[in-house]
Amino acid sequence: MSERVIPLIDQRLVNTVARIPTTPVAPTGLLGDALGRPLRDLRISVTDRCNFRCSYCMPKEIFDKDYAYLPHSSLLSFEEITRVATQFVAHGVQKIRLTGGEPLLRKNLEILIEQLAALRTTEGRPLDITLTTNGSLLKRKAAALKAAGLQRVTVSLDGLDDTIFRAMNDVDFPVADVLEGIAAAQAAGLGPIKVNMVVKRGTNDHEVLPMARHFKGTGIVLRLIEYMDVGATNGWRMDEVLPSAEVVQRIHRELPLVQLGAAAPGETAERWGYADADGKHDERAGEIGVISSVTQAFCSDCNRARLSTEGQLYLCLFASQGHDLRPLIRGGATDEQLASAIAAIWQGRSDRYSELRASLPPDVSTGTRRVEMSYIGG
Ligand code: SAM
Ligand code: SF4
Ligand code: SF4
Repeated sequence: MSERVIPLIDQRLVNTVARIPTTPVAPTGLLGDALGRPLRDLRISVTDRCNFRCSYCMPKEIFDKDYAYLPHSSLLSFEEITRVATQFVAHGVQKIRLTGGEPLLRKNLEILIEQLAALRTTEGRPLDITLTTNGSLLKRKAAALKAAGLQRVTVSLDGLDDTIFRAMNDVDFPVADVLEGIAAAQAAGLGPIKVNMVVKRGTNDHEVLPMARHFKGTGIVLRLIEYMDVGATNGWRMDEVLPSAEVVQRIHRELPLVQLGAAAPGETAERWGYADADGKHDERAGEIGVISSVTQAFCSDCNRARLSTEGQLYLCLFASQGHDLRPLIRGGATDEQLASAIAAIWQGRSDRYSELRASLPPDVSTGTRRVEMSYIGG
């Protein structure tokens, strides 16, 4: 077995400052990138801090008490985030996901949600606003988030075995509290709820079936995510990835599944429904999703942009460089100029890392210079 190498680098890589194009690009809602992919989904990281230390995301050895998190003055304010989001929506964004770090650590997040909930798509419809959380503060906050206009939540939970979960979050946080958070979200009407489970072979893969059994028939959609080579600090190794095809097989052996169609274009998860005795989808039993970012690339219809806590625009989860919008936001650029700058960046996008991964040299696919997931969010 090869040795785990955890390179010590700063997650905030050198970015290019976004430029205002000489010819303005008016938003039409139909913006396409260099490969013809539209811009539909904006993920906004509202903090780079987290109260968990999941080894696959913020390993303790790196994210320790000396780690230099962003100072408060670097963070975009809620007004600045809403202003940028407005330009993205004008270019066609229909869905906003708040993430982090742990987004519920950002104070008064409800105020941002209220502001985003007031935006309308180019067709005049409200946005689909959701949030990904580790669930630790959900019990306390679910009702207020719903009242502010949040529609749904995705909660991360890597297993039901308390010992394994406490070890994976590496801060000894109990499963029971996350389950209480999920129950509070359900009671508040923040559904349909999704539960994200990162599957690491040899660590929590034997939790796949207990998780499937637990959430079957609850209306909660379990999504099993292949452990990804994001960032440069988690010491990723291919032999710790359990391919989604194997995850599906393991569940199918005990709880028969039928494949379902994609819910929406650009959807990351492949959907599988629990089957009834006739082999048809039993809607009451519900469905699972598998996200195969390692074994099956879905770059060809990737319509997601990511905005970091300090206003860097990233065009791919595996990008090594962002586009710094903050000098424009804070430097007096007009909304038209900001929209034009975003358009020029998206039009130049040709990122498709997952499709290229297999053909990259090993030192690239184990990530020597890549932005951290806790910085740009999932
Ligand atoms: N703290 C929140 C949470 O954990 O839900 C939001 C941010 S977290 C970066 C977003 C999602 O990314 C989580 O579902 C997490 O499990 C997933 N994630 C983080 N590192 C990952 C990795 N190396 N491979 C696959 N998924 C990962
Ligand atoms: Fe925190 Fe989420 Fe990363 Fe875990 S996955 S360390 S909860 S940001
Ligand atoms: Fe999108 Fe990049 Fe992931 Fe491909 S690798 S699906 S382009 S985020």
